[in-house]
Amino acid sequence: MQNSISKKYLELLACPYCQSALAEQESHLQCAGCSRAFPVKEGIPLLMPMEDMSEIDKQSLKNWNQSWQARVLPPTGDIEADPAFADALQHIREHAPKGAWENFLEAGCGDGQKSLVIARQKKITCIGVDACFEACKLAKRLFAREGEEGLFVVGDLKCLPLQTGKIKYSYAGGSMEHFPDTQVAVNEAFRVLKKGGRITATIPCISLATLIYAQLWGNIPELPVLRSLAEWFHMRLLKGQHMRFGYEKSFTTRRLKRYFTTAGFKTVRVDEFKTHMEFTFLPDWIKAVARRLVRWKWFWPVVYVDADCPE
Ligand SMILES: [Zn+2]
Repeated sequence: MQNSISKKYLELLACPYCQSALAEQESHLQCAGCSRAFPVKEGIPLLMPMEDMSEIDKQSLKNWNQSWQARVLPPTGDIEADPAFADALQHIREHAPKGAWENFLEAGCGDGQKSLVIARQKKITCIGVDACFEACKLAKRLFAREGEEGLFVVGDLKCLPLQTGKIKYSYAGGSMEHFPDTQVAVNEAFRVLKKGGRITATIPCISLATLIYAQLWGNIPELPVLRSLAEWFHMRLLKGQHMRFGYEKSFTTRRLKRYFTTAGFKTVRVDEFKTHMEFTFLPDWIKAVARRLVRWKWFWPVVYVDADCPE
């Protein structure tokens, strides 16, 4: 049998339940520890721990699959010129670790467009994890079309299907906020990084902006009373149907700092992420005003977290 997953990628993967190594069999990956078998579908390992998935995760996954199913492969062109990606790529250029990275993890990779730019520029091992099979399929096809090498796996950011301490740099754009227990996801991000590794995460922050317009898609501010109210309103009363990004929280910068330092990160910087806002729901004449407003701290929609593991 010809192996479909090259050795350098297989060595990074791990069982999402027990973190043991995985061996490639005829049509699946087999865990060396707990013997569970994980299918490989269309070249994509399915490493999502489905056995104990929460109702909230199931609902999020349903919403994400629906939105990714409707998407097609992006046209060929300059991804860096696309305002939807330029902000993240600019941040990575300025904030990523200096020198060689060895490898790159995009945690919550979607259709892999940012990973593609990294793969092209750095020629390093690029691995993308996303809960959504439809997103991974698009990412895999995009890499094939562009002649780049990478591996996309379906997995959960709360129990990453990756070995401990192997990743040099990880980017999590708009993904860490999708779980009721954020600490678990931040701990996992820390676990898979090498000593001296770094993560950049972009995460919604609590501001007048998220308290108002992010309510359109059911954002849940992580503040004592507001969180319960928002969860009741969006999930119980409206049944989560308008939550097109699935379960999504926003945080104060102080709270985010605490999650990352608790996980073990040594230096943690949280600041404004200069994100491009589409504001599709606003009339054109208000868009320009809104884009200026979000530069003001009280209206920041998103912050970045740059966090370093101890050496
Ligand atoms: Zn296992």
